[in-house]
Amino acid sequence: LRPSKKQTSERMAAVRRDGTGPELAVRKALRSLGIRYRSNLATLPGSPDVANIRRGFVILVHGCFWHRHQSCPRATFPKTNKAFWKAKFLANRQRDLRVKMALEDKGLRVVVVWECETKMPGLVRFLRAALGTAVR
Ligand SMILES: [Zn+2]
Repeated sequence: LRPSKKQTSERMAAVRRDGTGPELAVRKALRSLGIRYRSNLATLPGSPDVANIRRGFVILVHGCFWHRHQSCPRATFPKTNKAFWKAKFLANRQRDLRVKMALEDKGLRVVVVWECETKMPGLVRFLRAALGTAVR
């Protein structure tokens, strides 16, 4: 039995609400550090995945493929429709840069965590170091 359109859209809404695997890994790491945060704060540019305005930081969790993690094996380039993908990736990177600058203009420390980094055992240590004085 195939899921109905309603079931499919409910499931996709749940994914958006709960975050992807890499986002969940980052949130879990923050909880283990005892750092509180808000998810997908719509009042900030780009609705960053994780933010704590009082502590002055945001964390952007980037998928390696869509956000083009440099020299990462996950950032493959599709073999067909090259022009389409090239334009798509360029637009993504430009948006990432705009969002990062808009957040920094608000005085926030912006930490980018790549999807592949969320699978590494040192994620907690990496976050504590990257957030630095924001979490001390
Ligand atoms: Zn990567």
